[in-house]
Amino acid sequence: MFNTLRVDHIGIAVKDLEQAKKFYTEVLGMECMGEEVVEEQKVKVCFIPCGDSEVELLESTSPDGPIAKYIEKNGEGIQHLAIRVDDIEAALADLKAKGVRLIDEKPRYGAGGASIAFVHPKATGGILLELSQRK
Ligand code: ZN
Repeated sequence: MFNTLRVDHIGIAVKDLEQAKKFYTEVLGMECMGEEVVEEQKVKVCFIPCGDSEVELLESTSPDGPIAKYIEKNGEGIQHLAIRVDDIEAALADLKAKGVRLIDEKPRYGAGGASIAFVHPKATGGILLELSQRK
């Protein structure tokens, strides 16, 4: 079995990361940490800590990346919810055994060195759910 620990972050798809950051930093007075390009997912991200959780801003680095496609279809906005788990391998095995539709059957690299995997929105009531295990 695995444990769900907390909301890890909420992922927000934005067209322009620098522009989007301004609202959080200049208006809300929050701080942007850990800016990173994740080549595999064709995104540039920054994390904005807020209490026990974070806001993850995601800008596509390519017109055919998942974030670009998301924005094309839905516009900018909340793209996924990430739940922190203590054992992502166990979580995926458990969900698979329960017949839950997964996007990733194996963990992959996530920003900040996390191990992440996505659960299909059809299995979650419409939310793209990310499981995240931090080091
Ligand atoms: Zn995320």
